[in-house]
Amino acid sequence: MRLPLLVVLSVLALTPSTSHAWGTKEHLQLTRLAAERLIADSATPPDMKAWLKDAAPSLMDMEGEKSWFMNERIGIVPRGADGIIFWAVMPDVTIFLEGREEKKVAPFGVPERLLHYIDLELFLAGDAKREYRHDLSGKPKIEDVPHDMKDKRFAQAGMLPFRVEDCYGKLVDQIRAGRLTDKAGQGGSRDEHAAKWAGYLAHYLEDNTQPQHATIDYKSAAYFAEKRKAPNVHAQVEYVMADDEFDDHMALRQEYWPLLAKALDELQDPVQGDDLFRATLEVSLSSYDALPLIGQAAMAATKQAGTPEKPTGPASDRFDTETFFRFRGSFHGKEISVLEMKANQQAWAVKRVMRIWRRAWDEGHGPAPSASTRKLSS
Ligand SMILES: [Zn+2]
Repeated sequence: MRLPLLVVLSVLALTPSTSHAWGTKEHLQLTRLAAERLIADSATPPDMKAWLKDAAPSLMDMEGEKSWFMNERIGIVPRGADGIIFWAVMPDVTIFLEGREEKKVAPFGVPERLLHYIDLELFLAGDAKREYRHDLSGKPKIEDVPHDMKDKRFAQAGMLPFRVEDCYGKLVDQIRAGRLTDKAGQGGSRDEHAAKWAGYLAHYLEDNTQPQHATIDYKSAAYFAEKRKAPNVHAQVEYVMADDEFDDHMALRQEYWPLLAKALDELQDPVQGDDLFRATLEVSLSSYDALPLIGQAAMAATKQAGTPEKPTGPASDRFDTETFFRFRGSFHGKEISVLEMKANQQAWAVKRVMRIWRRAWDEGHGPAPSASTRKLSS
């Protein structure tokens, strides 16, 4: 069927660009898991539990989560999600709805799309080319990334660490104002309340642990000789295994769920600092180290010949998702599969959401900050 050019263009604009992070299905689930685990935790204040139950309907137990993960098909637009869980996917849905008419988001001065990642290579000091390299020599030091929104590099690199701070501040403000959910008669905007900003904050904290959200080479194209024909490795890392339109990848899902459940029980968030800008960078820098594993797995999944430093010849058109996720390689000095790496990164996301929500709840119930402390944290 031939379509008029205008139709083709507008459909293209709506086609999900795949650089927004964990898929919609995964964001919904990771955010629910954070709420469920806080509610199950005896250390969570009872009034916070009451808020979570009220603001995040459709919570379930781990059996329910497993069956939902195994069987649901979601796609881009969230079905059946409400409250915090709905708001947790709105940052991606906004990009999808905007298409090419990107609006700049205040106070960042960049479109929504750039709030989901940070391309660390752009901050590398010295004269080396700012690009991804397999030996990780393209990765900057944390001190190389300035806590200064006006630094021009952020307009290209992305502003995830600033957005995390921003959402956290807005969540604290709404909690302090007692605007916990969308309710009639609260005054002000119906869309400004703690449920919204808890959802938004969860989204960006979750994006933070996707390794490809820390690099300019977000599709791992460096691992392919024919860069322009390189497969969409970003989509593979994210939604393909959990929510593909044509292939349910049931065997992989079956292997994945126990890995995620185990990581949720055992993993501790190693990034504990109070400075959210710095903490977000630390998560990006640590997640970045998974990129060589992802790249080598993508080579194996497409029979790309050559070495990671110098891929040669064409890759197969077929991307073998099973081979990709079962590929084993080194990450932080341990040999693990891509599937294990993904489970750990996603469990880490849940742990961070839990901890930062809790911190916002406590801060929103503590003494109001003086003007000078506010200044320091902005
Ligand atoms: Zn995103």
